[in-house]
Amino acid sequence: MNLHEYQARALLKTAGIPMLDGDVASTPTEAEAIARRLGGKVVIKAQVHAGGRGKAGGVKLARNTAEALDHATQILGMQIKGLTVNKVLVVPAADIATESYLGLVMDRESQAPVFMVSSAGGVDIEEVAAKTPEKIVRLAVDPTYGLLPHQALTLGFSLYRDFNQVKAAARIMEQLYGVFTGNGCSLAEINPLVTTPAGQVLALDAKIVIDDNELFWRPELGLMRDDSAEEPSEAAARRANLSFIKLEGNVGCVVNGAGLAMATMDLVKYYGGEPANFLDIGGSSSPEKVINALKIITTDPRVRAILFNIFGGITRTDDVANGIVEATRQFKVKVPIVIRLTGTNESEAIRILEKVGMTALSDMDEAVQRVVQLARKAA
Ligand code: GDP
Ligand code: MN
Repeated sequence: MNLHEYQARALLKTAGIPMLDGDVASTPTEAEAIARRLGGKVVIKAQVHAGGRGKAGGVKLARNTAEALDHATQILGMQIKGLTVNKVLVVPAADIATESYLGLVMDRESQAPVFMVSSAGGVDIEEVAAKTPEKIVRLAVDPTYGLLPHQALTLGFSLYRDFNQVKAAARIMEQLYGVFTGNGCSLAEINPLVTTPAGQVLALDAKIVIDDNELFWRPELGLMRDDSAEEPSEAAARRANLSFIKLEGNVGCVVNGAGLAMATMDLVKYYGGEPANFLDIGGSSSPEKVINALKIITTDPRVRAILFNIFGGITRTDDVANGIVEATRQFKVKVPIVIRLTGTNESEAIRILEKVGMTALSDMDEAVQRVVQLARKAA
């Protein structure tokens, strides 16, 4: 789950990380009022779940309240990477001497949280990572001990020479580590971490991603979810209790079990197709789940054909068949459906489908080849 910057800031603030206090606004006049309260010299920042807002024109410096109103008017409602800006953050503008990068990610390879730190921070950090990766210092943290003081100081020295700034940065890293582990984050990032001409170290931006699997333990964090900022089909799928990830292809996939879903996507690709989604209807599949799955998949205009790949174990294939029949009764599915099912109650499922003129295959290769062909013909 992605947090908006203003939400991420609140978590960093609670941990004691130094930041300038601002406020969020949903209308230009609200933004203007906040800017006036803050003295006029502010930064207006688009609140969307996308990086690179600065480069996209979503972060603008205002010298006075009138400019703040102008910028807010322009930024509210604009599109950044396909996302509409519904809120802006208004914060006092900081004077910047240097911009650094401070990130903490859960790293599969190290099987630990890894700090990434660079004195070449700011809006070009992706380019730094791609072209001069040696400018990024990495440190894996042993979760048994946490970030040790000497490690934090070593990272601090990779950013600054001034010892007060080194200590300030080290403290911020310890606080960031606390935020990361305390909130089940998969990513916590401050970019830029700036120094001011007066020598102060400040966090100017915050990005936090919370591992969805951690929300069970931390329901209060789930309240921060902004449905309107997510891919609509993914939000709908979550509400229907389906594991769904939208992809770019044209073969819709409805599968039971994450492993089979991945194998199915591999096979679609193997036969020259492109999956439109990953979808796992889960173990016990009520017809309702199948209906929801079909609804979500058919809202994607790119989908040219749909594949059901069901391996009946706990999942009853007759439940799935009933779901398919019921769904096609409830709404018109305009693209061809290829059904492969095998396992629990298979003959019952086939009977249900045949009654409405549908057929099912039992061979996975055959089904995938057929759906890829159908999608290609319709494309
Ligand atoms: P991002 O592009 O989405 O990461 O948005 P950021 O919040 O990181 O802002 C992008 C850039 O805008 C920063 O790297 C800074 O150079 C600049 N910026 C952001 N806040 C301030 C500020 O308070 N004062 C000044 N002078 N520049 C700022
Ligand atoms: Mn940033």
